[in-house]
Amino acid sequence: MQGKGVSSGIAIGTIKYCAQTTRTVEKRQVTDFPAEIVRFESARALAAAQLGELAVSTAQKLGKENSLLFEIHQMMLEDTDYRESVTQIIQGQQVCAEYAVQETAGQFKEMFASMDDEYMKERAADVQDVSRRVIALLTGIGEESLLGDKPVILAAEDFSPSETAQFDRDKVLALLTSTGSGNSHTAIFARTMGIPAVIGVGGALTPDCDGLFAVLDGETGTVVLNPDEVTLAEYRKKAAEQRQREELLLAYRGKKGVSRSGKEINIYANIGSPEDVPAVLKNDAEGVGLFRSEFLYLEQSDFPGEDTQYNAYKAVLESMVGKRVVIRTLDIGADKQADYFGLAHEENPALGLRAVRICLTRPDIFKTQLRALCRASVHGKLAIMIPMITSVNEVRQVKSILKDVQDELDVAGIRYSDSIELGIMVETPAAAIISDLLAEEVDFFSIGTNDLTQYTLAIDRQNHAIEPFCDTHHDAILRLIATVVRNAHAKGLWVGICGELAGDLSLMKFYLDVGVDELSVAPPLVLGLRKAVCDSE
Ligand code: PEP
Ligand code: MG
Repeated sequence: MQGKGVSSGIAIGTIKYCAQTTRTVEKRQVTDFPAEIVRFESARALAAAQLGELAVSTAQKLGKENSLLFEIHQMMLEDTDYRESVTQIIQGQQVCAEYAVQETAGQFKEMFASMDDEYMKERAADVQDVSRRVIALLTGIGEESLLGDKPVILAAEDFSPSETAQFDRDKVLALLTSTGSGNSHTAIFARTMGIPAVIGVGGALTPDCDGLFAVLDGETGTVVLNPDEVTLAEYRKKAAEQRQREELLLAYRGKKGVSRSGKEINIYANIGSPEDVPAVLKNDAEGVGLFRSEFLYLEQSDFPGEDTQYNAYKAVLESMVGKRVVIRTLDIGADKQADYFGLAHEENPALGLRAVRICLTRPDIFKTQLRALCRASVHGKLAIMIPMITSVNEVRQVKSILKDVQDELDVAGIRYSDSIELGIMVETPAAAIISDLLAEEVDFFSIGTNDLTQYTLAIDRQNHAIEPFCDTHHDAILRLIATVVRNAHAKGLWVGICGELAGDLSLMKFYLDVGVDELSVAPPLVLGLRKAVCDSE
């Protein structure tokens, strides 16, 4: 198979084809309900055991605090009321176990959500989450295919961002898709995780590939099915060479990205969750340039509460010990859909109700996030970044909501940092063109070249078919970047790039010439980029 390599690395293993990774549960009548109760009990016990393991491994990797949630989830599955509710539904309605679990989840969710206590309210999302895990085990579809199994090359037609957010990353050797594009969130996710990925292999990838042994090269985009010994040896050698190159790059840890002529560019890292922070530290990024906070929303089946968010932001800020952490407020919409937002179907979702537009129309959701961010700000150096800005008015509205949130915190006597930076993503042509005006309003800009390219060149970033038309070095893009940097610097702002173009080594001279202050890339790319700065004039 030949596709496009979008995240380098060699993977050797078995293909797991996900015919459909999410599914709505059907109400299936059963006659043998005792057998159905046994099915439920075994899935429940397995899910609880998996959560126990996840709690232990998370405690080892990220500390006890971050593993607590899994312990709570495990306890929920042991809860007698929960178990009785499921068995009563199976018995009373003579329905399949997955339907009974879904019903129970809905009832418990409503019960928790209606409670006054903030902590209990948040459990509504948790009960949904654990139930989804049990349903996945019962239906044999979704993340369960990765759990308790050997690591696999995970294949599908394509993956949605919410699916990628739910992968158990230890179980994914590589990603392989028949469609998809280089700037899609599947590709971005793979690069962030350092997982090899090949996309767009077309019709060669079918459900029949499930279970086949394969070697995948995320650099060249080649996938060899049933490789012989000679081929395997060749790829093992290539993998060893890559590891060697990575080891040589370790010499750039602790160094600054300064060119031969003395120009400095800070190299930051992009993350999607606190789980990515170890890779950021390992690769010695000078900060987090983009924390895609929407992944917190995508991993859940209901709005993450203020405390859940606070804990995630705090974990990242504390781990980065005083280095700048740019957290982007939720960028839901377009390809990043979470059902519970209840967004209406749109003909053109990339041009629709997304990101800051949702925040301004539903300030309740936005305020919860801003409160969590402000509370977390005392634990490190926080910068808040707003996505999809097109006008000065939007920025002013955001500032006014932020001020309301801070006034409320003042009244409640809750502390927050007085040096939180506020910035925007420049990812629409409108924002780039009026960047001189926007620079009056904020502390920094970060250029989102993924969307800026999509909107400037009128090329849907998700559409595999039009990728050949996508010239990432188009003069229009480069001119917009130069304009934004000039306008930012004229007002004393720093400006970074956090879209995928930041990692394009062939543009290093351009970035140095125009004076970009920061480049933020997937953690595994940090050191290579720093080397490129140091090797440049
Ligand atoms: C971008 O648009 O360049 C960006 C960094 O944001 P995202 O890829 O999440 O849309
Ligand atoms: Mg974007």
